[in-house]
Amino acid sequence: MSLVPLLPIFHRFNRKYFDGLLVQGFKPLVSVRWSDRKLRNTAGLYRRGLNKSRQKFCEIVLSSPVLGNLPHSAVESTLCHEMIHAWIDLVLGLREVHGPNFRKRMDLINSLQNDFQISVRHKYPVPIQPPKWWAICPSCGLRFPYKKLVRGAACKQCCDAKYGGKWNMSCVLSYEPISTEV
Ligand SMILES: [Zn+2]
Ligand SMILES: [Zn+2]
Repeated sequence: MSLVPLLPIFHRFNRKYFDGLLVQGFKPLVSVRWSDRKLRNTAGLYRRGLNKSRQKFCEIVLSSPVLGNLPHSAVESTLCHEMIHAWIDLVLGLREVHGPNFRKRMDLINSLQNDFQISVRHKYPVPIQPPKWWAICPSCGLRFPYKKLVRGAACKQCCDAKYGGKWNMSCVLSYEPISTEV
């Protein structure tokens, strides 16, 4: 899987669809990058805030696992969608998610070209993530596949059956990694 460089597309879209307003001097107001393998629940995102060392950041992140194997138009559509969010936030200075300004700009860009179409929701198939853990109930011995390790979670069946639905220490699940090697 090879990922296309995003910055040239960003600059092209900025000139064509955002009147060049997402770049000041030669510096983009928002950084653009591919995610690592972990961003799987969305095709892309725009965010701004403070990082762990209390420094400001502002970025568009595109999901490499979701978009990496899709046609180029999916990458363009997602990048442009996130650029509309950045434009509303940084240029218009508005708190709006998929409101009237978003839709207006989206419709305009969609009407200007036929390479890609932006939608309000990214509709790309998200790769299924296999569960990583077995949660094991010490009381009944049942195993449940879990995607995330949830500390202190108890076996519902046993709590219901023996403790009137109340959490009890004796049914707190323990975890074992699911081996994915064959
Ligand atoms: Zn959005
Ligand atoms: Zn149980």
